[in-house]
Amino acid sequence: MRQPFPPAWLTANGHCAVTDFNSELQQRLDALREQSLFRELRRVDSPQSSRIQIGGKTFLNFSSNDYLGLANDSILKEAAIRAIEKFGVGAGTSRLICGSLAPFHELEEALADFKQTEAALSFSTGYATAIGTICALLGKDDIIVLDKLVHASIVDAAKLSGAKIRVFAHNDLNDLEKILKWATEKKSESKILIVTESIFSMDGDAAPLREIVGLKNKFAAWLMVDEAHATGIFGKNGRGLMDEFGVAKQIEIQMGTLGKALGASGGYICGSRALIDLLINKARSFIFSTAPIPAAAAAAMAAIQFVQSNNGEKRRELLQQRLGELNLKFKIQNLKFQSAITPIILGNEAKAVNAAIKLREQNIFVPAIRYPTVARGKARLRITLTAAHSENDISDLARAFKALDS
Ligand SMILES: *Cc1c(COP(=O)(O)O)cnc(C)c1O
Repeated sequence: MRQPFPPAWLTANGHCAVTDFNSELQQRLDALREQSLFRELRRVDSPQSSRIQIGGKTFLNFSSNDYLGLANDSILKEAAIRAIEKFGVGAGTSRLICGSLAPFHELEEALADFKQTEAALSFSTGYATAIGTICALLGKDDIIVLDKLVHASIVDAAKLSGAKIRVFAHNDLNDLEKILKWATEKKSESKILIVTESIFSMDGDAAPLREIVGLKNKFAAWLMVDEAHATGIFGKNGRGLMDEFGVAKQIEIQMGTLGKALGASGGYICGSRALIDLLINKARSFIFSTAPIPAAAAAAMAAIQFVQSNNGEKRRELLQQRLGELNLKFKIQNLKFQSAITPIILGNEAKAVNAAIKLREQNIFVPAIRYPTVARGKARLRITLTAAHSENDISDLARAFKALDS
């Protein structure tokens, strides 16, 4: 006689617990759907570029952070392939055991040279960089002061460090000064770390870095600046916004990612030799994690050389040209600062999701950014331009947006 499947012993044993678990999760997912906050993965069947293929259709892509069009560039691909041929794929273990393969050292020398700091350390991601660095530097007796809009990696790091967290209103120097005054009066032996981004990831605006450096000097605080959306784009040779503002030398902790304008993968800290040696000894996300594949480091290193070359400058000029066209077409005026990120703030989550769907119907891919990436009620379409877009692409984008209104 055939046994029923699943057999009775299996369904009797544990079936209930698993069913309860799943129905609890279904309820949570339904709640997300009701608030237009449900997210799902979309499989992309092409490399990252100004066009991507999803479900057999080609979309004009305005959603990636590959600002210089390097993610699928032959210079990076060849560097990665060479590294795979020489060093294989996996690093085998963490950097401190025996995974510290030559490409990581070459990358870190190139990073320090690029950012003009004594030393640099690479991490597997920008997220791991924030976690490892902030937790290595601060403990429960210290105070961390964050701009309201800093990235989730920094917020999570601040929580995990156990330090007292204070948040200042976005780019609000008066608020920052008030908090610093409170912090210095509170406990003289506490370390105070201010953390901000140079270009904000979901708003595209710039931090007043000169003034923030002035305040951190006045109150003897430390400053960490995340250049995730500025490295490769601003400053001499794409060094970043702190270079453009002439304050790089005064910033203790320079953070960034290798996965955006640099087109590869990983994160980094640039700073003094002492900072880097401390991180090698104390940053747990660095110590207790297998080193990334060496090919990622080799690709990032090729990107760092590229952004400093004439061809890098040309890509930056192309990006600026496209941004100028976008401003004209979208009648964007009086921008205080031009970055590659243009948010179209719609507020309501469902409205943002519906607008993104309507754009996709026209083969235009622009992501709807919602809570928890931005505050509730601040949902938006986030347009990112890259040097790989053409003038025609910008016209198509503008046309698709016009069709939304009609
Ligand atoms: C993307 C991002 C990170 C995280 O970097 P990954 O390399 O993607 O992990 C950190 N900070 C900011 C501001 C970012 O936008």
